[in-house]
Amino acid sequence: MTEQQFGPVTQWLSGMPKAELHLHIDGSLRAPRLLQLGKKHGVSLPYGSVEEVEAAYNFSDLQSFLDLYYLGASVLRDAEDFYLLMKDYLQVCRVQNIVHCEIMVEPQTYLPQGVELGVVLEGFDRAIAEAKSGWGQSVGLILSFLRHLPEADCLEMLKAADPYRAHFCAIGLASAERDFPPAGFQTLYREAADRGYALTAHAGEEGPPGFIRDALQLLSVTRIDHGVRATEDEDLLHQLAADRVPLTVCPLSNVRLCVYDTLSEHRIFDLLGRGLCVTVNSDDPAYFGGDLLENFAALEAGLGMTKEQALLLVRNSFEAAFLQSDEKLSLDARLQDYLARNP
Ligand SMILES: [Zn+2]
Repeated sequence: MTEQQFGPVTQWLSGMPKAELHLHIDGSLRAPRLLQLGKKHGVSLPYGSVEEVEAAYNFSDLQSFLDLYYLGASVLRDAEDFYLLMKDYLQVCRVQNIVHCEIMVEPQTYLPQGVELGVVLEGFDRAIAEAKSGWGQSVGLILSFLRHLPEADCLEMLKAADPYRAHFCAIGLASAERDFPPAGFQTLYREAADRGYALTAHAGEEGPPGFIRDALQLLSVTRIDHGVRATEDEDLLHQLAADRVPLTVCPLSNVRLCVYDTLSEHRIFDLLGRGLCVTVNSDDPAYFGGDLLENFAALEAGLGMTKEQALLLVRNSFEAAFLQSDEKLSLDARLQDYLARNP
């Protein structure tokens, strides 16, 4: 969907200041950049053209996506690559008025290629500094762990990140969910809490609602990434609403990875209507068919999203951000200013 084809609510949203809280930076690696970097480093890929890469975006489940995702990330080797990757995404933020973003960085992904965290952050820092000075972009980084790896490996990475502690606002837990429940990462989360990180984790995407409960109780997270399977557990829904636990929902991702067959089956507005702090995010936009605005556009086209619902989702994205209250107030002020000019 191009901007000209957006419905009226999404067009109204396009100029509105927004936050995106669930974005894997490797998932923003688009096919042309992937092929360019693969060629630069002589990485042999099973794709010769942008069309061939995009033809592979036909996933049957989370794992089939992850296989391609890790292959794609293997072309990232030096600081310049990471600079370009971050720069590309922050340009999207600029165009779509995503004034604050929280980006998941997964350093374990690069270890098989021998790339250390310092190299990754050198590239990211440069792109982030340019975006901050260029147009006032606000950026938080989330140190995200790969749950298909042993907890001991994650703990090692947490310690390796100690010299870079100030770069990250939070930790997260991503990758294959079903066979790797939250219970296996309690030490990691305790150690991260001791270091002062905010805590979030993927839960209830492919995994059952019990994983959401466990993430809250055993890992002490204050935010849940995805969480859509909470709809299967009435008591949990009550708890999430009462405690205003944010869910970073990713509509296009859920359809691409077959959590729902079609977008019209998505329950996001039930969750919103029941008072949950639901937000909209793009997850891995290069692979799932759209950035943040395209996700909103899909909600408008598939579920008839109203202006009231859209505004609530945007307000929630500020409430759910890992920011200080004065920073949230300044985002609210920008939103009020936009609404005064664009009622
Ligand atoms: Zn995710």
